[in-house]
Amino acid sequence: MAIAEQISLINKQLNDSTARLIVVTKTRSIEELQETYAAGAIEFGENRVQEMVEKQAVLPEDILWHQIGHLQTNKVKYIAPFVHLIHSVDSLNLLKEINKQGAKNNRVIHCLLQIFIATEESKFGLDFKEAEALLADASFAEMKHIRIVGLMGMASFTADEDQIRREFKSLADFFQQLKNNKTGVSTGLVEWTELSMGMSGDYLIAAELGATLVRVGSAIFGPRH
Ligand SMILES: *Cc1c(COP(=O)(O)O)cnc(C)c1O
Repeated sequence: MAIAEQISLINKQLNDSTARLIVVTKTRSIEELQETYAAGAIEFGENRVQEMVEKQAVLPEDILWHQIGHLQTNKVKYIAPFVHLIHSVDSLNLLKEINKQGAKNNRVIHCLLQIFIATEESKFGLDFKEAEALLADASFAEMKHIRIVGLMGMASFTADEDQIRREFKSLADFFQQLKNNKTGVSTGLVEWTELSMGMSGDYLIAAELGATLVRVGSAIFGPRH
C-alpha cells in the first residue's frame, strides 16, 4: 500500500486516542521521506545521528526531527541545532551534554526520559528509581537549556499481548504518578505532557493505554532491509 494511504489509515485508527503519529523513517530513502512529507506528515523519527543529520540537510525545514534511538554523548552536538525532541535520555551525563549543546545553540532542547520496561537486557533505559533520582539531582536543577517533557519506553519484542499491555501499563502508571506529584515541576525544567510508547506491532495497545506519541515505521513502509 502507498505510504500516504498507510499514514492516513493509522491516523484514523488513532483518531479517538490521545496519540499522535511519529513516522519512523530510519533506513528509508530520501524519496520515501519526501513521499511521507507530501502525505502531510512532518514528525519524523530517526535513531542514528548521522542519518538524521544527512536527511535533515536536504529535506524541508518544517520537519520536526525526533531522536528515538540510543544517543551517545559525543554525538549530541550534531543534532543540537535542530532536533525537536530527544526520546532517549537515559543518564544524567547525557542530559548534561544536551544542556551544554543547547546553551551553545541558544535553545532549550526538549527531552524524554527513556524508561526500561521490557525484559530484554539489550534495551536501554532508566528504572523508576533511577528516573526519580535523576529528577531529584541538584545538578539537574541548574540546566537551563533542557526541558524534560515526558517519558518514553519500549515493550518487549513478544507476541504475548498481555505482557506488552502490562509493560505499557507500568509506564503509563509511572507517568501518571509523576504528573500527579508534579515531580520536578518546581524546577521549571519539567512538564509531564508526553508519553512516547508503541511501535508497528503494538501502537494500538499503547494508544489505548494513554500514549501521546507512537513511533511507527514498518507498518507504513514495509519491513526494513
Ligand atoms: C525502529 C524503532 C521504532 C519503529 O519500529 P517499527 O517496528 O518499524 O515501527 C520505534 N521506536 C524505536 C526506538 C525504534 O528504534
